Amino acid sequence: MFIAANWKMNLDKKSINFFVENLQHYKFSENLQLCIFPPTIYIDFLSKLLENIPISIGGQNCHHQSFGAYTGEVSATSLKELGCDYVILGHSERRIYNKDTNENIKKCSQFAIKSDLKPIICVGENFNQRNNGKAIDFIEKQITDCLPEEFNELIIAYEPIWSIGTGKIPHKTEIREMHENIKEIVFSKSKKNVKVLYGGSVNEQNILEILSVNNVDGILVGGASLKIKDFLAIYDSAVKYLQKKYNF
Ligand code: PEP
Repeated sequence: MFIAANWKMNLDKKSINFFVENLQHYKFSENLQLCIFPPTIYIDFLSKLLENIPISIGGQNCHHQSFGAYTGEVSATSLKELGCDYVILGHSERRIYNKDTNENIKKCSQFAIKSDLKPIICVGENFNQRNNGKAIDFIEKQITDCLPEEFNELIIAYEPIWSIGTGKIPHKTEIREMHENIKEIVFSKSKKNVKVLYGGSVNEQNILEILSVNNVDGILVGGASLKIKDFLAIYDSAVKYLQKKYNF
């Protein structure tokens, strides 16, 4: 089970310090992997604070070159050098505001893999596509176009755009159907299995419902990962869910 916390362009040194202070001496479960994606500028700062805490760090995006004349960009090799293990690619906010394309996301994912980072590729339909029954076809195209040529470990985050930050989540059957489809699509193209995370308005109230859906291998949390109290409430619920399910 994987929990990804996407802080987006939020928090500052003081609030990051406060967040991590509350993680010291916390009893973490070995069955749940945690990764925080802070703003790039705070990766090094957070990485040092997390030195003795079993939480990974990741980048929110990366470029497809290791260096060069690309003002304002961040390279996968730099993320790796700062201690990142993962990188989010193709988040809908980047697709919308930065015009990230499937073609570009594919290139970035290939370079991330070459740089020893594990990509988390985000896909998700908008409200009209969902309402017009086009969601599955749209996601199939996103995956087909973004999928790296070669990979050992890949994570896909299914994040319906209409669910991000809105408090609305798809019905359980819609999440199950989409996660099953994503796994089938990736397997048919690569003969590899992938983990699929659900992202979009996950919180303390709906976490158990979401985790109980077949083929949900974890969650990507935005807003509810910014406050330590909410983050730990989600984490504790996930641990209890696993303990009950697997009896450990
Ligand atoms: C996100 O943006 O990846 C996300 C899941 O946000 P939120 O949890 O706030 O909907």
